[in-house]
Amino acid sequence: MATTNFPSAPPKRRRIGVLTSGGDAPGMNGAVRAVVRMAIHSDCEAYAVFEGYEGLVNGGDMIRQLHWEDVRGWLSRGGTLIGSARCMSFRQRPGRLRAAKNMILRGIDALVVCGGDGSLTGADVFRSEWPGLLEELVKTGELTEEQVKPYTVLNIVGLVGSIDNDMSGTDATIGCYSSLTRICDAVDDVFDTAFSHQRGFVIEVMGRHCGWLALMSAISTGADWLFIPEMPPRDGWEDDMCGIITKNRQERGKRRTIVIVAEGAQDRHLNKITSSRVKDILTERLGLDTRTTVLGHTQRGGPACAYDRWLSTLQGVEAVRAVLEMTPESPSPVITIRENKIMRTPLMDAVKATQEVTSHIKNKDFATAMTLRDSEFKEYHYAYLNTATPDHPKLNLPEEKRMRIAIINVGAPAGGMNQASRAAVAYCLTRGHTPIAIHNGFPGLIRHHADKPVSSVREVRWVETDAWVNEGGSDIGTNRGLPSEDIDTTAKCFKTYKFDALFVVGGFEAFTAVSQLRQAREKYDAFKIPMVVLPATISNNVPGTEYSLGSDTCLNALIDFCDCIRQSASSSRRRVFVIETQGGKSGYIATTAGLSVGAVAVYIPEEGIDIKMLARDIDFLRDNFARDKGANRAGKIIMRNETASSTYTTQVIADMIKEEAKGRFESRAAVPGHFQQGGKPSPMDRIRALRMAIKCLMHLESYAGKSKEEIAADEMSATVIGVKGSQVLFSAMGGESGLEANETDWARRRPKAEFWLQLQDTVNILSGRSGSKATWSCYEDDDRIQAPSPHP
Ligand code: ADP
Repeated sequence: MATTNFPSAPPKRRRIGVLTSGGDAPGMNGAVRAVVRMAIHSDCEAYAVFEGYEGLVNGGDMIRQLHWEDVRGWLSRGGTLIGSARCMSFRQRPGRLRAAKNMILRGIDALVVCGGDGSLTGADVFRSEWPGLLEELVKTGELTEEQVKPYTVLNIVGLVGSIDNDMSGTDATIGCYSSLTRICDAVDDVFDTAFSHQRGFVIEVMGRHCGWLALMSAISTGADWLFIPEMPPRDGWEDDMCGIITKNRQERGKRRTIVIVAEGAQDRHLNKITSSRVKDILTERLGLDTRTTVLGHTQRGGPACAYDRWLSTLQGVEAVRAVLEMTPESPSPVITIRENKIMRTPLMDAVKATQEVTSHIKNKDFATAMTLRDSEFKEYHYAYLNTATPDHPKLNLPEEKRMRIAIINVGAPAGGMNQASRAAVAYCLTRGHTPIAIHNGFPGLIRHHADKPVSSVREVRWVETDAWVNEGGSDIGTNRGLPSEDIDTTAKCFKTYKFDALFVVGGFEAFTAVSQLRQAREKYDAFKIPMVVLPATISNNVPGTEYSLGSDTCLNALIDFCDCIRQSASSSRRRVFVIETQGGKSGYIATTAGLSVGAVAVYIPEEGIDIKMLARDIDFLRDNFARDKGANRAGKIIMRNETASSTYTTQVIADMIKEEAKGRFESRAAVPGHFQQGGKPSPMDRIRALRMAIKCLMHLESYAGKSKEEIAADEMSATVIGVKGSQVLFSAMGGESGLEANETDWARRRPKAEFWLQLQDTVNILSGRSGSKATWSCYEDDDRIQAPSPHP
């Protein structure tokens, strides 16, 4: 029987559905928000399907239009506000038949699905069956030919939402870094007690088929031993584990012992390795006072971290673009990320590769399972093994290849500096190099040589670096001073201490310092050694990279700050906060933070601020508060970089808004200042510090045995490591195509081309600030303003 209570004519605007399915994950709400707003911006309508495929099968009130303001504040909410469920009936064709009918009745022919590989497989099956489902619906009289005619093709786009990070083809899934943050917070909390009592802790983390969370938490917390499903330990692992832990404790003086066990950990015969078994082994064999902590569902909860907020936002935007660009022939895409680049991959290729890993593990073919994991995962695993304990006789280099490697931190402190130094020390010891810390940057080195009572240059022992694993700032001390302050003495020091290589962790000053040393090579032989900069600065303004250590920690600090401040508005009324961010002459932090908190506007030095802009934005705010009744209780945020304008300071802007609002809303200025350097580094900064530091050290050691002249002639002997698009690359500082001459805006202390500038458009689109066809104009023929409750 044909259903008549819906019009058969297609709707005026294209309708895009969005659903979250499978296990929930922090960041899913950010994805739904971005899909809804981007769809509206693109002149489409957005429909949420509540409770995953259950809503699609049941229809009725479970599929509802979402409007611009319905998703306000969703970025900071954990879980999924449109609900998720496992749905048995969608696994069967009759269930999908009902789902198809429900979609057609609402005029929806595109679906963005955020879930794991199961959910995405379901979506793809649905798409492939779509023509047959429509045919059947017409044949059985459920729908008329006329009703189905406009919807012959179903567009499916996948977003991967999963805390496990178990999908092949993407570096990260929406939710995995938030979950890692929960784990690291919990382990950081037991650190002190483990240290005080010299205890052992066995921590069990989620991951039935994928060891990503376990591996990354092991790296982030300096675990002594790790169990992951895809790389079971060799037989006799009990002895191996006890041997290493004993060595770490007795010979090296480590006071705390951490073992991380993935939920799906197993031995090579597929026997489960449980956390309680590991605890018993440590207790019985080593007499170690050991406690077990099974983290369970705390790993799923809580608000999304900064990375998940901007990832879900950018991927949601990309999903809508993909829907609009798809042709009937194009395979369903899944939106992925490689390093720093949002990409599209055929959905079923990614699902197939993911499922292959699981089946290889089941067949005990662990080597193949590991090769099918993403290259990033393998690199992290290699980096962890090389640094968890410096005890790898096979990795020791012959005497003539061993180097004296100096480690120095330059510039303002940034999260990840300690972790990079720690990784460098461990890697040096593993390979037989001598790690030498220079304390307090170049001024520390120069002072030391002047024979003051300081000891700024010294070899570092592994156990000293143990505590650095989760500490913020720079333990060896960092300083903005440059070698040019006394280049002569700097050269003398390099010679005296026989540095064979230099590893510099820091921001724009670190870049400048290496540039000075490189240019002074003509005069000083001592600088004819390989040098590499690992960028670490919250400003993220180092040429040669799109990502600097510390920037993620800073973003997390900023979103915490903004969440708190915004919450305070819910008990007052109609408030706009103008928040001043650091970042020097680079608007990166302001923009990315703006994207992650859903700022109304972001003011950056690259664009400046003028009176017209302010007038427009005040009008926009006035309009916003007037139309959107729900906004009364939601604080709005404007981000302003500290150098965006010398006239329109943060306070001046706040005062102007207040004045112009004429009592309809008010405004406050807030300056988080050094709070932005963060407390403990974020897990992302910790793990990237390790991986990048080891790449740097590998690069440095490739120069072992080369003559000074050979080194000086090689442009890659003074480099910056960086993320560029989807790759991690070294870029030469000097030479015709080098960073110094081509990519550096020396006056403004930032790269000439800033990759993130285009994100400004996304911030504007999602806040509705762009003015054009976004937001309010779409309500002109629609008198509803009442927001629906999140759940039916
Ligand atoms: P995840 O998406 O996290 O992998 P599941 O595997 O439980 O979680 O899948 C979630 C939902 O997706 C299932 O409850 C089901 O409704 C749907 N689904 C999963 N696999 C299929 C499939 N092969 N065919 C149709 N629907 C599926």
